[in-house]
Formats: sequence, structure tokens, C-alpha cells
Amino acid sequence: MARINDNYLKLKAGYLFPEIARRVNAFTEANPEAAAKIIRCGIGDVTEALPLAAREAMHRAIDELGDRDSFRGYGPEQGYEFLRSAIAESNYRSRGMAIADDEIFVSDGSKCDTGNFLDILGPGNRTAITDPVYPVYVDTNVMVGNTGDADDRGAYEGLVYLPCTAENQFVPAIPQEDVDVIYLCYPNNPTGATASREQLTAWVDYAKARKAIILYDAAYEAFIRDPEVPRSIYEIPGADTCAVEFRSFSKNGGFTGVRCAYTVVPKALVGSTASGEDQALHPLWNRRMCTKFNSVSYPVQRAAEALFSEDGQAQIQALIDHYMGNAELLSQTCKTLGLEVYGGKNAPYIWVRCPEGIDSWGMFDKMLNEATVVITPGSGFGAAGEGYFRISAFNSRANVEEVCHRMEALGLS
Ligand SMILES: *Cc1c(COP(=O)(O)O)cnc(C)c1O
Repeated sequence: MARINDNYLKLKAGYLFPEIARRVNAFTEANPEAAAKIIRCGIGDVTEALPLAAREAMHRAIDELGDRDSFRGYGPEQGYEFLRSAIAESNYRSRGMAIADDEIFVSDGSKCDTGNFLDILGPGNRTAITDPVYPVYVDTNVMVGNTGDADDRGAYEGLVYLPCTAENQFVPAIPQEDVDVIYLCYPNNPTGATASREQLTAWVDYAKARKAIILYDAAYEAFIRDPEVPRSIYEIPGADTCAVEFRSFSKNGGFTGVRCAYTVVPKALVGSTASGEDQALHPLWNRRMCTKFNSVSYPVQRAAEALFSEDGQAQIQALIDHYMGNAELLSQTCKTLGLEVYGGKNAPYIWVRCPEGIDSWGMFDKMLNEATVVITPGSGFGAAGEGYFRISAFNSRANVEEVCHRMEALGLS
């Protein structure tokens, strides 16, 4: 009889978003007339139209494929050179970071890449994640058998949880114990926090000293407005020897449905073999991609390339400005209501302390029942998220203004 991967049975049954859906369904069944009024500020998905530069590039690419002379079949597994070099040049070399074209691996998403990267890391790594956290990092570690079971608070045995609270500005302190792999995500989902140069330097120094690897998720890099905040882990000296960076066109170019991202694996990055020798990760990731992946479709890679054109950059900026304008409105409203507000300055998420005496799910229910607005309870991202809620700025301006009015009418705090 065929054995299954028992690790999957340790997974908590996708607690957060199914539970949100369950409560929203119960609400609309009890209040069918209110269903059309629901405004969703829960899920982190973009809402605005795809940039014109990307659409035009896709149209052109499809026409090329329609002509036998310019037709293309399989492309390079690592991504087309035109896209790898546009990425390395525009996002790294022109900003003073020595990243080579062939250190860029194009993919169909950062969610996939952060999970897939575990393919080339061995068993037995002591792995640290932040709390609250993007759940993908946790669940993919459970799937490959890096954890034991979850306790009744949802924390898995074997993972090192690094609490992120208002006291540490939502950037974890260096742990007392030794860890081998560290997931960091800045600007952060869900807290909207950024990590400063000093904070990232402390992590890079730790990783170098410990020969640990930082898996740095910079999916929200484009939302950084403060010039002092690092956009890449490679702005920190030495990070190329200890960090992988994940970036995506999902949030800056509105590619959540189009699918294109990339992972930077510097050649200087090494891990350890079972017998304790240094081994570069670059050839291993290259091998993994060649064996298990056939890259992203040609029209999509052309669309991603077009985002680096002058028009593409201006169109991205307009999208970012739109979402950050939403974030500003939401932050202002929450502040006016006397709430404690974090994030929203360099990230499309507002992280808000619940009013006195209400917990995360209590706040969720209050917003749903009294304002017909769906937010995300902070506790769904980890125990340290209890007492907070997340509002996403991914929405139309009209919806955001309506959410602000409804929150004012609620008279919170
Ligand atoms: C949206 C998001 C991503 C991007 O994932 P894709 O698979 O590229 O769409 C990565 N990390 C975090 C934390 C995100 O919120």
C-alpha cells in the first residue's frame, strides 16, 4: 500500500481564511440584505488593473508566438536572459549591489519559491520564524518534516518563534539560542513594519557568525517610501554570503493573477554538507529548477520585463501611490479614532491594536456585524498577533473612503 507524507496530517486545517469565510457566510445568511454592502479588507490581493506596459508586451509576445518564424517553445529553466538582466541591472547593480544576471532565478511566485527552497536545505535545521508570520513559511516546514505536532495554540514543536511586538517595533531580537535558517519578511506582511539598516545588519552579522541562512522575503519592497529603509538584504555588507532574497511582481505590478517572481541566490552563499564541508547553494538551486521547473510563460516574462521600461516604472508608481494613498486614509482614520496604529507608511498593511477589552476575533466580529467590513484578526498570524487586527490597503479608493466612514460611525476606542 502506498504511504502518504504523514507530515501533511500535522497541518492545522488552514485555520485563518476558512474561519473568516465561515463567519462571513453566517453573517450573510442571517443578513441577506447586507451581503452586497460587505467590503473586504482582509485578503492581501491587489485590486487595480494591470499596467498598460505589461499588457502591451504580452500582446506583442503572443503575436510572436503566432508566427512560425518567431515562435518559441521551452525557454531556459532559470528564466530568459532579457528578464534576468533587467532585474539584476535595475533592482540591484544600478543600486550598488553586485548581483549577476545568473544569480537571478525567475519563477511563478514567491509563495512557491519560499516553499520550494526547502528542497535544497537538509533535515535537522533549526528554523526560526517571526510571530506573527506569513503562514506559508510555517506550513512548508511542517510539510517537509521539520517540525513536530502543533500545540493547542497552533505553535509547532521544533520551530523557534520570534515574537514581534510593538516593544521591538515588530522586528525580532537576535535569539539567545542558535538557529540555522531564519525567515525574515520586510516590509512585513501582516504588520506593515520595516526593518532598519541597523536591525538587518545585526541579523546578517548573526547569520555570518553562525553560518546560518536568512530567507529574506522582499515581496513588498516597492512600497518603501523612506529612503533610509533598505529595499534589499544585499544592501547589508556580507549578506551575499548568508542570504537568499525572494521578490515578486505580484504586489508592485499587480501580477497576482499573471504570476511572475524571482529568487536571488548569490554564488557566495554556502551551506554545510552532512559531513560538515561548505557547499554553494547556487548550483543546487539551479539543479532543482532545471529538474522540477520549466520557467514562466514567454508572454509573462515579456510583461515582467516591460515593467522595467520608463512607462512601466511610471505605471507601477501610480499603482503604489494609489494603494499607499489608501493606507494613509485608513491610518489617519484609525488614529483619529484613538487607536494605536502601526505599518501603513512603507507597506500596504495597517496593523492596529484592538480597542481595550476586545480581542482579535472580537474585533473581526464587531467590524463585520456593525460595519459590514471584513478585516483580518491578528491572532490568525500567530499568538503574538493577538490583540491586533490587519487592514489591507489593496482596494478601490471609494471602498477605502467608505470603510473610513463606517469606522468613524462605529465610534471605536
Ligand atoms: C503576496 C506575498 C508574496 C508574493 O507571492 P507570489 O506567490 O509571488 O504571488 C510573497 N510573500 C508575502 C509575504 C506575500 O504577502
